[in-house]
Amino acid sequence: MDASSRTALEHNLRIVLVGTQHPGNIGSAARAMKTMGLSSLVLVAPEKAPDRDTHAMAAGADDLIEAAPVFASLAEAVADCRWGLGCTARNRRIQLEPLHPRVAAGRALVAAASGPVALVFGRERSGLDNAEMALCHAAIHIPSNPDFSSLNLAAAVQVLSYELRCALLGDTPEAIVGDSDARTPPPSNDAATHTQLEGLFEHLAVTLEAIDFHKGRTPDSAMRKLRRLYLRANLDAAEVRLLHGILADSERMARLAGQVANSGEIL
Ligand code: SAH
Repeated sequence: MDASSRTALEHNLRIVLVGTQHPGNIGSAARAMKTMGLSSLVLVAPEKAPDRDTHAMAAGADDLIEAAPVFASLAEAVADCRWGLGCTARNRRIQLEPLHPRVAAGRALVAAASGPVALVFGRERSGLDNAEMALCHAAIHIPSNPDFSSLNLAAAVQVLSYELRCALLGDTPEAIVGDSDARTPPPSNDAATHTQLEGLFEHLAVTLEAIDFHKGRTPDSAMRKLRRLYLRANLDAAEVRLLHGILADSERMARLAGQVANSGEIL
């Protein structure tokens, strides 16, 4: 997808905040959107107008707030939209079958190719009312903990904005895994613990000094590279013991060589 068609799609992805109670949340939501490349923010009858808290939480996404139209009702805010999705913290007790955010993002993107699409978020205290939900074509539920299902408003906007971005970038699991997975395979069941690895690095540092590996240079750069090498290798506990053994023998050999050299001086 070229840059200009992506910008057009992003522009058609509209985040609608209904009846927001905390002005700070409007700022946090704007920041969440901007980090994910979205810019179309629309406010419906916020309880308080954007204020200092809004701008503090926006942390540089103030342009979205300044450009955000404010409507008196959700019906007006989505009048020109071809598709509307209501985000709800409640999985049960809603008439619409909720979509998973990933599925919703994919479909929203398809719909955004032909016109504005609205993702609608409700009030912090009470969410969206039934009449507002009835204006939406489908519901979205973020599969949260059923016993504690309500995300902070801006956190919910972040999750949806992220899914939209992944859909826009075509980030399927296969596409993401690529190279990075080959270079950093997941740890095995018997992978060495953090403490075991740090013990190895300490031993390595002492041994490198003992064999005068650094020759006057500071050890930092070599140690950084060696850490990277051993961390990438996904060592298990037995391999760490093997390397300790090699280091111990190297130290012993260095000591012996030192003694021989010293005795040579004396003789
Ligand atoms: N107490 C409210 C929750 C409001 S949270 C209620 O019971 O509905 C503010 C808004 O964030 C919600 O209206 C919804 O749009 C969004 N949100 C919070 N948690 C969500 C979730 N798990 N899935 C989808 N949207 C969620």
